[in-house]
Amino acid sequence: MSENILSGRGVTKSFRGLTAIQDVDFDVPAGAIFGLIGPNGAGKSTLFNLITGYYPLTRGEIRFSGESISPLPTYRRNQIGIARAFQISKPFPALTVRENVRVGAMFGRPGGSDPEKVVDEALAIAGLEELADRTAEGLTVGSLRKLEIARAYATRPSLLLADEPCAGLNPTETEEMVNCLRKVRDRGTTVWLVEHDMKAVTSICDCILVIDAGQKIAEGTPQEVVADPKVISAYLGEPLEEQVD
Ligand code: ADP
Ligand code: MG
Repeated sequence: MSENILSGRGVTKSFRGLTAIQDVDFDVPAGAIFGLIGPNGAGKSTLFNLITGYYPLTRGEIRFSGESISPLPTYRRNQIGIARAFQISKPFPALTVRENVRVGAMFGRPGGSDPEKVVDEALAIAGLEELADRTAEGLTVGSLRKLEIARAYATRPSLLLADEPCAGLNPTETEEMVNCLRKVRDRGTTVWLVEHDMKAVTSICDCILVIDAGQKIAEGTPQEVVADPKVISAYLGEPLEEQVD
C-alpha cells in the first residue's frame, strides 16, 4: 500500500467574489510523478500557492506526511521538504549557475549531506554541468527552466512542485526536462507536475488530476483521464469531426 505524501480535503480559495479553487480533494502518492492539468485560469498555480503557503486557504485542509501544514509559513514548508520550481525563473543574474543552485542548498531541509555534494547532484540531474560557471544572465529559456528545477532540488525536498516546466520549450528541450523530472523522482523525491504538453504529461505521470474553473473534473491514470468525456470537452477539445468551420 503506498502512502500519500500530500493530501488535500475540501481545498477552497476565494479571492473576493472569485472562487479560484473549490472543494478540491487530492492524494499524491509518495514516490509518484503526479500530474495536474486544466485550461488556463483553472486554478493550477493557485493550488501550488496554497500548498506552498503563499496564500492561506479559505477553507479545507492540506496535510503533508500526515500533518496539517496550514499554520506553517512558506519557509517552514520548504524546511520540512516542499519545494517549488516556478514557471518564470528569476535567478540572480550576476551569479553563476552553480552559485544560484548553491543559494537553494543554503535553504531547505536542514542537515543531510555536504551542501556542495547536493549542488553537484542538482547540476548533474538538470544536465547543467557544462554551464555551471556561466552567469545566469543570458541563459536560454530551456537552461533557465533546468536551473529552476536544480535550485529547487538543492533544497533537498521530498516533494517538488513544478509549474509548467516545459512551457515554450522545443521538443528536444521538453524531452530533456521530462528526463530531468524522472531523475528527480528516481532519487526519491515525489514530483507534482503542472503541464500543458499532453505528450509529456501522459508519458511520465503515474496519475493525473484534472481541474476546470477551480473544480476537480477527473482523476486517474493517464489512459483513464484522456478518455474521459468531461476532460475531452473541457480541456482536450472536441473530436475533430464534431468541430464546425
Ligand atoms: P492557472 O494556473 O490554472 O492558469 P491560476 O491559478 O493562475 O490559473 O488562476 C485561477 C484564477 O484565479 C484566475 O481566474 C485568476 O485570475 C484568479 N487569481 C489567481 N490569483 C489571484 C489573485 N491573487 N487575486 C485575484 N484573483 C486571482
Ligand atoms: Mg498557472
